[in-house]
Amino acid sequence: MKKLAVLSIFAMIVLNSCGTAAFTCRQQLLVYSDESVSALSDESYAEFLKTAVISGDKQHTEMVRSVGEKMVAALTSYLVGIGQQDYLGGLDWEFRLVKDPSVNAFCLPNGKIVLFEGILQFANNPNHLAIVIGHEMGHAVARHGNERMSQQALLQSAGQIATQVFSQTKYGQNTQTVELFAQAFAFGSNVGVVLPFSRKHEYEADRIGLYIMALAGYDIYQTPLFWEKMMGDQKSSSFDFLSTHPSDVKRIAAISESLDEAAKYYRDPEFK
Ligand SMILES: [Zn+2]
Repeated sequence: MKKLAVLSIFAMIVLNSCGTAAFTCRQQLLVYSDESVSALSDESYAEFLKTAVISGDKQHTEMVRSVGEKMVAALTSYLVGIGQQDYLGGLDWEFRLVKDPSVNAFCLPNGKIVLFEGILQFANNPNHLAIVIGHEMGHAVARHGNERMSQQALLQSAGQIATQVFSQTKYGQNTQTVELFAQAFAFGSNVGVVLPFSRKHEYEADRIGLYIMALAGYDIYQTPLFWEKMMGDQKSSSFDFLSTHPSDVKRIAAISESLDEAAKYYRDPEFK
């Protein structure tokens, strides 16, 4: 009887926690509020900034900021225009370039995007930066962090009483929520390590990244070549970005296949 009660509470939570991902409308299990995930992201970001060295490269810092702002403006006006501004909940975009030779970039679920100077060897012009930034924004706007934490919560609670796990998740943070976030976004001695997303999330972030690029007027057709170049570099196996974003042939093929569909998001007829 007790088991049945737990199961029905569990089913209720799952049924009440479904959402759909921005742009792709894929069904998602999201048991956390945007505010709750965002608050945890704010804490991690503050921790990260304590040890990170902000880049002194004014020119590239400005390029990162201006591409980021252009992408955010395009995404915001699109989502607001179609009445889907809810997807912007919990997002407070910010773009930082840090002095670090790693070929890396990451985005926290609150929209804080960090690029490491090392990635500028590849993303060395606004269009290439838009590829990296678009991908990272794709993870955030599709709430991949929340989804990953929710999936983990579900797995970890399979043998426990569901109510314990979910009791405070919508409105507060219990210890388990904090732990799940730490597992998903493993900040620590190894600065800025975000555990790899699933393939499904990577592919979805690629697609959404292309849509945002198109909305902002960037050339999406440079994207496959950009990843190929990065992957083809002799030192690429040591790139942190590629260890969490495997740019294999299949991923690049999927990007190529999405280009025509993504081109529908251009507002400027010149690109169509
Ligand atoms: Zn990614």
